Order: sequence, then structure tokens, then C-alpha cells
Amino acid sequence: MHTLGWIGLGNMGAPMAKNLLQEGYKVNIYNRSPEKTFSLVESGATKLNSPKEVVDQSDIIFIMLSNSNAVKAVLTQDNGILDAIHPGKVLVDMSTISPEDSLSYAKLVSERGGIYLDAPVSGSVGAAIAAQLVILVGGEEKAIDICQPYFNLLGKETIYFGSSSKGSSAKLAINLLLGIIGQGIGETLLLAEKSGLDKEKVLEMISLSGMNTPLFQGKKEMYRQEQFPSAFMLELMSKDLGLVKAEADRLATKLPLAEVANTTYRSANENGKAKLDMAAVYLELKEINNL
Ligand code: NAD
Repeated sequence: MHTLGWIGLGNMGAPMAKNLLQEGYKVNIYNRSPEKTFSLVESGATKLNSPKEVVDQSDIIFIMLSNSNAVKAVLTQDNGILDAIHPGKVLVDMSTISPEDSLSYAKLVSERGGIYLDAPVSGSVGAAIAAQLVILVGGEEKAIDICQPYFNLLGKETIYFGSSSKGSSAKLAINLLLGIIGQGIGETLLLAEKSGLDKEKVLEMISLSGMNTPLFQGKKEMYRQEQFPSAFMLELMSKDLGLVKAEADRLATKLPLAEVANTTYRSANENGKAKLDMAAVYLELKEINNL
């Protein structure tokens, strides 16, 4: 039985780590701000004092952090992950970061004899709690076999995309679609409102249409109330669209909708909606139109 480690206990990391604990695994945890570890300790996790300690005392270490800077920090800081990586350790990075950064972190880990998988997830907090995430993996196939039993406890499906960084590439592709659909719903509601249509009937129309999605149903109450408590923070959506833009530039690929979505979410992010749910891009669209 492997001993597991978990670094990063935010909106996603905490329920994911809890799902491993509930299956009886020993889970060593670390979070930069210790208060986020308290409820996990109550569920049986062992709180350690640095990323290095987690790696020292665990076989497979999952990390779920905000962005690439955070991943770099826990890898390279004093008492960081790289101080303890050695052959036999598997590091599973589930954060959404760029494919280029995934590749460079894989290299840093493999230079020390460890294995790094990029394994970001599709699905938000509800899916994390219900272990219904879709896990998008790149890296050494033999390590996937080792991790598969744990992926099965975190998600409903694991898709292996190939070598290092391919999981991160897949995540950017699916989140581009998420950002575009989010803006699309916002614009649809806005046009309907400007046309004087009853909002309740518009929500019903979308729900009954071919464009109904689990995403729309998950956010419908937010649109109804015009309250956007965060499931997937708008600042993270904006970060991901920035990563999409950088990747499209690197691949010399023109993505017109991606450009527009990147601009809209960035301005929402800068105009006080960073900590709201990504669906609050609708509020930004309203403000642009003086509503
Ligand atoms: P969050 O902001 O709730 O949690 C981020 C975690 O990173 C926190 O535990 C924080 O302490 C830690 N952190 C941040 N900077 C750090 C640093 N410099 N050093 C050490 N720790 C640091 O974010 P989240 O919603 O849990 O998202 C985590 C990742 O998963 C992100 O990459 C996000 O894009 C991705 N993601 C989120 C969702 C979602 O719905 N929330 C869905 C899919 C993927």
C-alpha cells in the first residue's frame, strides 16, 4: 500500500485529498497557510511542515496549486520538493499550468530520478467532492499504472494523452471551450434582457434546448440570482485563457474566439470580479453595456 502526499489544499485540493483519506489511505499533507489543513487533519491526515517532509514520507505526491509560480515555489524553495525527490518517488501535478512549464518541471524531477506526471483535471468543486473529475494525463505510462487506483478515487475517468505536457495541453484545450461557452451564455442572457424577454423563460428555453449542458445547470441559479459565489474563480479562468493565448502564439495558431474571451475575462478580473465564479463574466458584459 502506498503512502500518499498532498500539497495544496484549496477549493479543489481539499475535497480531493479527503476522498483518498475516506478510502483508508495514509495521506501526508502540506499547505502554505496551515489553517487549510485543519479539517483534513480531523479526517485523519498527517500535517507536515514542508513540501520536503511530505516527499520524504510519501511514495506518490499529488500537488494541486493555483498556478505555475506556486508549483515552481514548492519545487524549488528551501525544504521544497526537489530537496527530497529520488528514484521511486512519483509526483503528480494536477494544477493547471502551461505545457512548457510542465515539461520543464518534468525535467527537474527526472534529473533527480523521480517521475513527474502532468495530470490536470476537468470538472469543478462539485465534481471534486463527488469524485467525478476527468483526469487528463501526460508522462511516463508506467507511472500511470501506479497512480490509476488513486485516479479512480478522484475521478470518473482518466484519459492518457501521451508524453510529458500532453495532459496540460489537453487541459488548455478544454478550458478554452469552457471560457468561450461561459461568455456565450452571458451574451445570450444579455441579448435576451436587452430585448425585454422574461429571464425565467429564457433560462427555461436554454434548459430545454440542445445547448443545455451540465455547466449551464450548475450555474443557472447564479444567473437567476445574479449572485456568483465561486466554484471556479474567475481569476483562474482568466489565468487559463492567458495560458491558451501564450500556447496559441507558440504554436502560431490563430484562435479568434480565444482572443475575445481572453480580453473579456481579463477585464472582468481587473474590474473587481476576480474572486467571483467565472460565470460573473455576465456581470462584466452587463457593465460594458451600462446595465
Ligand atoms: P485555490 O486558490 O482554492 O487553491 C490554491 C492552493 O495553492 C492553495 O492551497 C494555496 O495555499 C496554494 N498556493 C498558492 N500559491 C502558493 C505558493 N506560492 N506556494 C505554496 N502554495 C501556494 O485554487 P483551486 O480552485 O483549488 O485550483 C487549483 C488548481 O486547479 C488551479 O490550477 C486551477 O486552475 C485548477 N482547477 C480549478 C478548478 C476549480 O473549479 N476550482 C477546476 C479545475 C482545475
